Amino acid sequence: AQGLGRNRYQFYSPEMNERALELIGLEGDLRFAIERDELFLVYQPQISLETGEVIGFEALVRWQHPVRGLISPAHFIPVAEESGLIVDIGNWVLKTACCQYVEWMDEGLVSGTIAVNVSAHQFRQPDFIDTVEEALIRCGLRPEHLELELTESVVMHGIEDVLCKLEELDQLGIKLAIDDFGTGYSSLSYLKQFPLFRLKIDQSFTKVLPEDLEGGAIAKAIIQMGHTLGLEVIAEGIETSEQRQFLQALSCDSGQGYLFAKPLSVKECPGFLRNFRES
Ligand code: C2E
Ligand code: CA
Ligand code: CA
Ligand code: CA
Repeated sequence: AQGLGRNRYQFYSPEMNERALELIGLEGDLRFAIERDELFLVYQPQISLETGEVIGFEALVRWQHPVRGLISPAHFIPVAEESGLIVDIGNWVLKTACCQYVEWMDEGLVSGTIAVNVSAHQFRQPDFIDTVEEALIRCGLRPEHLELELTESVVMHGIEDVLCKLEELDQLGIKLAIDDFGTGYSSLSYLKQFPLFRLKIDQSFTKVLPEDLEGGAIAKAIIQMGHTLGLEVIAEGIETSEQRQFLQALSCDSGQGYLFAKPLSVKECPGFLRNFRES
């Protein structure tokens, strides 16, 4: 970098170095996060817009780092994806969420479905279906109570293999949802072939409601298309009652967001369920 003079800082800035080191450090720590019991799940309720009842929960992973504190999945899931650690983490999430849900079902607190996020790398594992089945068996959860959330980029990539896998999961009785719908690239003709149960409208469309006309038009289009294809539609990121009303008027089936509840700890869920049913 000698001859570059002060220009070298354009290519190799201290900030970049710090960022790279941080990611490397994070990856090293993440490798041990499961065995050190640093990962945990929080659960966000999903609500029927028609009846106001809880129809299920989405499991969301958290990392309590011993030094850095709580780390958001938006920060460490990409690291986990790139390093392949997401496979072990994803399996841990799946098993933990399924077993937790069985516990709540046995206590009569919940019915409906537990939704689990599946990343691209995880879905592409040849033994993905086996690990899903194993989680169900080990926890004693019936497949119709499990929903897998896949993004458009996961299902629109390598369509032949994907279709086979989705069909196998569907045969098992597991529900399939497309997450963050509208933010990726979906081929509508493939969408029609996939054995899907639900579309999740991304929160970027929900959060601009009810004022934003384009967001409203997109939400409306997704709901109509979803219903035409025989799918349920859920909106994520509902924060205000105006948003809820707007979506309900468009016949959106269900919703998720801070208006109803933030993602809750295992401890908070039973109390939430008792109170929410009463209101
Ligand atoms: P996502 O699957 O789209 O999850 C929704 C995110 O929106 C969650 O962020 C949730 O806490 C947040 N959220 C929920 N309601 C509201 C709301 O009303 N307003 C706003 N502004 N945000 C809301 P979180 O938990 O930080 O997760 C971020 C992303 O990390 C998730 O996005 C998902 O892509 C990924 N992720 C989380 N857990 C897992 C996991 O177990 N496996 C995989 N592969 N990815 C995960
Ligand atoms: Ca999700
Ligand atoms: Ca989402
Ligand atoms: Ca999202």
